[in-house]
Amino acid sequence: MSLLVIPIFIAHQGCPHRCIFCDQHTITGHSAQEDQPVSPVVVRETIEQWLGHPRKEGRNEVQVAFYGGSFTGLPLQRQKELLSAVISYIDAGQVNSIRISTRPDYIDADIIAFLQEHSVSIVELGIQSLDLNVLEASVRGHSVEQSEGAIQLLRENGFTVGAQLMCGLPGDSTNKLMATARRVAALAPDFVRIYPTLVIKGSGLEKLYLEDAYKPLSLLKAIALTCRVKNIFDEHHMKVVRMGLQPSEDLEKRVLAGPYHPAFGELVISRALFKQARKLLRQMMRNGKKCLSLAAADESAFRGPNNVSMKRLAGLGLLNGVELVFDKEQARNTVMAC
Ligand code: SF4
Repeated sequence: MSLLVIPIFIAHQGCPHRCIFCDQHTITGHSAQEDQPVSPVVVRETIEQWLGHPRKEGRNEVQVAFYGGSFTGLPLQRQKELLSAVISYIDAGQVNSIRISTRPDYIDADIIAFLQEHSVSIVELGIQSLDLNVLEASVRGHSVEQSEGAIQLLRENGFTVGAQLMCGLPGDSTNKLMATARRVAALAPDFVRIYPTLVIKGSGLEKLYLEDAYKPLSLLKAIALTCRVKNIFDEHHMKVVRMGLQPSEDLEKRVLAGPYHPAFGELVISRALFKQARKLLRQMMRNGKKCLSLAAADESAFRGPNNVSMKRLAGLGLLNGVELVFDKEQARNTVMAC
């Protein structure tokens, strides 16, 4: 059974902060002119529109997701109005869940009780890093302990918890990023998103970049780091639901520099499969096996853009006489000798 997500954008509403990497108008794909506060009427109209669309077969679960901004930083009355607009659809069985995004320091026991009373079951937290120096250099305005506490409190109270992490933030390093990933994995959120840091026009990072005080990651480095972070979550059997920002024309216009690619996540998966295959093919050379099997749905990611991974494996002499099998029954993201 798959999920229909109805997105409601509340760009920058409720957020007095300006994290160094953030220009929320760009990230949500909405221009400043469109950035009027979302009314309950708009929420209802948006839900009606989406519910009226023909649905792909099997899309039985419906989730309303409030994106952007920091939902629990909105005035309480506005939070109530927005959530109440959804609750009637939940009561009617037309919507199954509500998801919000917020900052770790905007979660406490009272907020948790309020969210529970208003049918919110999924909370995504902008964790970004669990290194204090990186948080400070990124002007996040909250502590590591607040992030850890928010994940724990939400989990203890039965919420589904998402954690957003970023690689390439100012002051970050490979070691700090891996330490963050391991600490987040130990806190066991239900799912994770990983975003490479981009220099967005109009953000604080643009200024640093133009002053030569910040150097963004190259695309290759961002892919490699994200792949290593993903491996850590894979080892803990945790879902990585997105890698890279949702591509949009508006975002592309406003990215000044940094590792942007519209298919960033696919490139990371491609690298992960390449590394698994290379390791296994080397072992197979030693034990005489000659058949490599992957999920049929992973074939394109495995081959990589312009068949680059296949060419690299062939260049290493690892594909000589090896039969490749793309199996419809095999689990995604796995590589096996057969
Ligand atoms: S807290 Fe979120 S919405 Fe607010 S400035 Fe930072 S990243 Fe942007």
